[in-house]
Amino acid sequence: MENLDNINWLDEVTKRQEDLLEDLFRMIRIRSVREDDLATAEAPVGPGPKKALEEFLKMAQEDGFETKQFGPLVGRVEIGEGDQTLGILGHLDVVPEGTGWDTDPYEPVIKDGRIYARGSSDDKGPTIGAYFAIKVLRELGAEFNQKIHLIVGTDEESGWMCMDHYAKVEKMPDYGFSPDAQFPIINGEKGNVSAQFKFDAKQTVEANHKLLDFHAGLRANMVPQEAYASVKTDQADQIKADFQAFLEDQPVSGKVSQASGQLRFELTGKAAHGSTPEKGHNAGTYLAAFLSKYTFDKKEANDFLTLVGDKLHLDFEGEKIGVAIVDDIMGALSMNIGIINFDDAEGGLVDANFRYPKGTDKDQIQSAIIKNVANLAVKVEMNGNKDPHYLSPEDPMVKTLLDVYAKQTGNEVYEKTIGGGTYGRLMERGVSFGVLFPDSIDTMHQANEFLAMDDLLRATAIYAESIYRLTR
Ligand code: ZN
Ligand code: ZN
Repeated sequence: MENLDNINWLDEVTKRQEDLLEDLFRMIRIRSVREDDLATAEAPVGPGPKKALEEFLKMAQEDGFETKQFGPLVGRVEIGEGDQTLGILGHLDVVPEGTGWDTDPYEPVIKDGRIYARGSSDDKGPTIGAYFAIKVLRELGAEFNQKIHLIVGTDEESGWMCMDHYAKVEKMPDYGFSPDAQFPIINGEKGNVSAQFKFDAKQTVEANHKLLDFHAGLRANMVPQEAYASVKTDQADQIKADFQAFLEDQPVSGKVSQASGQLRFELTGKAAHGSTPEKGHNAGTYLAAFLSKYTFDKKEANDFLTLVGDKLHLDFEGEKIGVAIVDDIMGALSMNIGIINFDDAEGGLVDANFRYPKGTDKDQIQSAIIKNVANLAVKVEMNGNKDPHYLSPEDPMVKTLLDVYAKQTGNEVYEKTIGGGTYGRLMERGVSFGVLFPDSIDTMHQANEFLAMDDLLRATAIYAESIYRLTR
């Protein structure tokens, strides 16, 4: 067996830069966006992701690797023999390109040392970096005393159907990493569950105002940027004046218009990712906070506004609703109110999404909420749940990964928990490892997404040495 202990990994990768880019560009040129309207039995999330998977496995076969495909959404490259299996889990699907690109998102452009393309940093660059690391190791004559499974999925950005299927038909690797977040390491991922508050609109109350409808939010995992409400009232002038006064000292903007005895409110806040609700201004909770000082002619409308405008407003850690908790290592629970709807005929629905650390769970969150809203005419149902995932920094794999990272970069190491989720959580001893460095610019999911060439080379070198040391 070749001894590669003293090799300069970055040199070995840099020497082969052209080949690395060729492999990566081959993947980037496939628009692997989920398209449900084009889905078929053979392509359950549309033709793009399917094509990306097939092209990747074809490339690996051309490179002389053994590959396996498990249904239309997931496959793997394998090498090595042994009792243990090291898993490397990446994805080849991408989020839609959206608008605002300066270049073709599917024709990679290298400019100022950066590779511009959709998927360059999330997650084709990192996945191909890990693949190429194995290729370099094989070329250098490394032997692997364990199985290595590089598993690629094509539905990571949506429903994880790919890995759900894999887990059903194959054994998950014993341990491993997903190159789909940041260095030095992500060894904690918070749990994720939603509470859905459901309102009828049946119990009438004596009042001068009617809440006709209220809408805010597109998705549970985003902070609503816009909110709308229609109100029927005989005190329009007073309410309009109140609204202007309300807006004066709030970080949101809005307007109100009047037509045929109805007021129509529009309020604009600031969107943010659902895992960082404090970075946004939730248009829906602000508008509810304003309207909650009036009494409307349905008990449920009033309770809806009390819930959203009081109990859930400006409370990103769930204090007022009774679910707040802070874990020493994983940090605080966070709460995002992503969907806020009410209709005088149909009733209402509010979706509150929680990212929670260890120390609580779905049942505790549910019972705390139910107790807290006992006097409101609302039903609470919990929706979906992923338990928190945490791997100790004392785990031997974590130690090896951090050691390689520190040795190659000279950077300090520390553990970190995120509110988002990666494939790392699918393995009991799983983490996310790279590809972004502490000094990288994060452009994932944005227009003009890029991956710095240096980051790709550095990460590939780190993956190569990590795989080498883990499988000796
Ligand atoms: Zn990703
Ligand atoms: Zn992503």
